[in-house]
Amino acid sequence: MAQLQRIAIAHSQIHNGQITLTSPQQHYLYRVLRLQSGDRLIVMDGMGKWWLAQLASETAQIIESVSVETELPIAITLMAALPKGNSFDEVVRCSTELGVTCIAPVLSDRTLLKPSPQKLQRWRRIAQEAAEQSERACIPTILEPVAFQKIVLETTANYRYLCEGRGNYPHLTNIIAEVSPPGEIAIAIGPEGGWTEAEIAFAIANGFKSVSLGKRILRAFTAPIVAVSVVATLLESIAEK
Ligand code: SAH
Repeated sequence: MAQLQRIAIAHSQIHNGQITLTSPQQHYLYRVLRLQSGDRLIVMDGMGKWWLAQLASETAQIIESVSVETELPIAITLMAALPKGNSFDEVVRCSTELGVTCIAPVLSDRTLLKPSPQKLQRWRRIAQEAAEQSERACIPTILEPVAFQKIVLETTANYRYLCEGRGNYPHLTNIIAEVSPPGEIAIAIGPEGGWTEAEIAFAIANGFKSVSLGKRILRAFTAPIVAVSVVATLLESIAEK
């Protein structure tokens, strides 16, 4: 099963067990992956469902649903301030591999640039490829770049952590013991210049707890990967017990 090619589709493409493939999907399957009519593949709807399907020209026929156990027991929303350059690409790729459910590219007081719409498309494509690569059942949602205050007010997460490099805060590893599924965890990571005092105060006033990722200051690219690794590892090891 693992060697079958996987492709993400929208749920609206399925009618009576048949999937209507878009032109880009047909191009990808037949030209890029070199599949042929009659070949089997895995189709994922990005919302937790996978099917085994068989290609038939412009459509794919669903054969059976496939159970996947590659998702974390609790949803993780990563709110990461946009770093300079292209390093957010890697944040999207790595955190998708590690299991995040949603990524909010955050504009903070010390974030310099608002990214172009093409960047959002690019991150969504990276997330899709990374989800397929990691055999995930869900493709993370990449939100439009959003002001920190806005996402802090809008989040529905019942566990909220603000990563802070300076200060004597409990390590995220210790504090994660309070989490029990189902639910959602929000993790906020600041930009290269760090959070401003006002942002920290605002987050705390809205239910965030300040947490540490260790005694060394991590780069804006490294911190989200470490935070999500810690949470994913602990959630999965708790689930095994
Ligand atoms: N220039 C800032 C560091 C910013 S690092 C300073 O000197 O303080 C970018 C972000 O990564 C921080 O805002 C924080 O969210 C996170 N981060 C980096 N190291 C961390 C650590 N040891 N513990 C918790 N969060 C950390």
